[in-house]
Amino acid sequence: PSYYNNDGLDVPDANDEEHVPDVVLRANATLLMLARNSEINAAVLTVKELEDQFNHKYRYPWVFLNEQFFTEEFKQRVSILTSGPVYFEKIPDEHWYQPNSINEAVAEEERRKMEDDGVIYGGSVSYRNMCRYNSGFFYRHPLLQNFKYYWRVEPGATFHCDVNFDPFVFMQENNKVYGFTITLYEFPRTIESLWSTVRDFTTEHPEFVSPNSAMDFISDDEGESYNLCHFWSNFEIADMDFWRGPAYTAFFDYLESRGGFYYERWGDAPVHSIAAALFGGTDRIHFFNEIGYEHPPFTHCPSSSELWRLGRCTCDLANNVDYNEHSCFWRWGRMSGQ
Ligand code: GDP
Ligand code: MN
Repeated sequence: PSYYNNDGLDVPDANDEEHVPDVVLRANATLLMLARNSEINAAVLTVKELEDQFNHKYRYPWVFLNEQFFTEEFKQRVSILTSGPVYFEKIPDEHWYQPNSINEAVAEEERRKMEDDGVIYGGSVSYRNMCRYNSGFFYRHPLLQNFKYYWRVEPGATFHCDVNFDPFVFMQENNKVYGFTITLYEFPRTIESLWSTVRDFTTEHPEFVSPNSAMDFISDDEGESYNLCHFWSNFEIADMDFWRGPAYTAFFDYLESRGGFYYERWGDAPVHSIAAALFGGTDRIHFFNEIGYEHPPFTHCPSSSELWRLGRCTCDLANNVDYNEHSCFWRWGRMSGQ
């Protein structure tokens, strides 16, 4: 990996040592965006916003990932916006594409059925590649080995408030493994056998389940069934060492062996959420109320007028998903006292 150079552009080069300010990176962390070249216009808006509202004060690096090589246009247009080092990385093919262990005839038949049933992305292979990659591979990327925490950012997402604190340092100081802003219900049709797979895994490996597990967030009957609640993973601030650790590694391998990323359409949101809830536990998960965040069609707006004012938020307090019927947040509040 190498810093991208703004050669030929008439702007200060954020990666030039002369321009690196006296800011000490206080956590070992990076901003992380998985993106397609075609998403450049959405990507630059989101990067600029997060730089202006947070990162220009901290200068954390950005890592961009793509299963194809990023274009020069993508690299140029992003590099003029970032305040710290920026890396544009190609994902290794073996981390992205459907593995040979999947029976493609079976997978294709299931995709067709899901498409016929009108399931969103039901017929898409690339969406499945993305979900599996975000579930079990991004944190194995050679460049990301150097980092512990990441903030997942999607092209087109909106950050509504100034972030006047360092969420990575917060994670570190409070021993958190997973941070979220929005929780929703999963489409049951995409994960029909996920919960039984989870149950099989935890029966074989009870030692991985935290004594303080957040089971009451993901199940309304003490683990008998999944209530479909998950942290919406297009926003994540999390600890990659948790994904790299023994519990999640064994869990992901187990999921992978069942083939549900391709035979069904398991999303990285329920996979991450179930793991954080069961193996991390309630007190290692954090709700970032201060961070106003929007990924269409939902917005989290800080549910305290004081936070809203201090953050100079552009979101409408009346348009906060937390307490509407799409959100699982009330369960989180009830369980965690947060
Ligand atoms: P949605 O939010 O579930 O509707 O899914 P998105 O289309 O936003 O995809 C989720 C994330 O994965 C975004 O960061 C996308 O840029 C990224 N993504 C999705 N599919 C691909 C793909 O085929 N290639 C690459 N490089 N990124 C992808
Ligand atoms: Mn998205």
